[in-house]
Amino acid sequence: MKYPVNEVFETIQGEGTYTGVPALFVRLQGCPVGCSWCDTKQTWELLEENRVTPELVIQVDGTVGRWAELTPEQLVRSFEEKGFNAKHVVITGGEPCLYDLSELTEYLHSQGYQTQIETSGTFEVLCAKDTWVTVSPKVNMKGGYPVLAQALNRANEIKHPIATQKHVDELDELLTEIDLTGKTVCLQPISQKPRATELAMKTCIERNWRLSIQTHKYLDID
Ligand code: SF4
Repeated sequence: MKYPVNEVFETIQGEGTYTGVPALFVRLQGCPVGCSWCDTKQTWELLEENRVTPELVIQVDGTVGRWAELTPEQLVRSFEEKGFNAKHVVITGGEPCLYDLSELTEYLHSQGYQTQIETSGTFEVLCAKDTWVTVSPKVNMKGGYPVLAQALNRANEIKHPIATQKHVDELDELLTEIDLTGKTVCLQPISQKPRATELAMKTCIERNWRLSIQTHKYLDID
């Protein structure tokens, strides 16, 4: 299977359980969810006119909406050619779960990589058994896609950006029917705002949840 890749880059995972871990980010092209504050709007459309050759999406500026189709084998070869060291691969987007990620994640595992998916939870999550799945639920967005119970049930980690109590209530409602045993729930203050951080800390302490800080924003890295 071929996957439409917007960009591949090596950095440090800045959020959630794997904070601080060197990571290869594979950003897939395509997302119909429509979050108004999305900071990767260039990934929304999969336009044929923006298709490029694979080498043009590896360790380059992905802020334009171009994309290349790569097989899992081509992707791993490109990691090796670039001399990347990280062994943790974060598959993000766009919305990566528009695609069946089973073949990609299984191949990466067979080559000695571990994988993580970051998804909005609005599409079925199809991936290897050992993939770490982070669902950051996007509720009531313009695209009109509901957050799926399948995605929440498959999640290893549910990471929710919050600014006000309304966001915490929204998460509570989503989680009513979900068995949280063995899952990590993280609250992430939106835009490092002091009031959001205070609310996130207070709620995490009350619920024994985890605080996720966007460390890459403090470090000013991608
Ligand atoms: Fe952007 Fe992610 Fe929302 Fe898609 S799901 S619109 S990529 S923030």
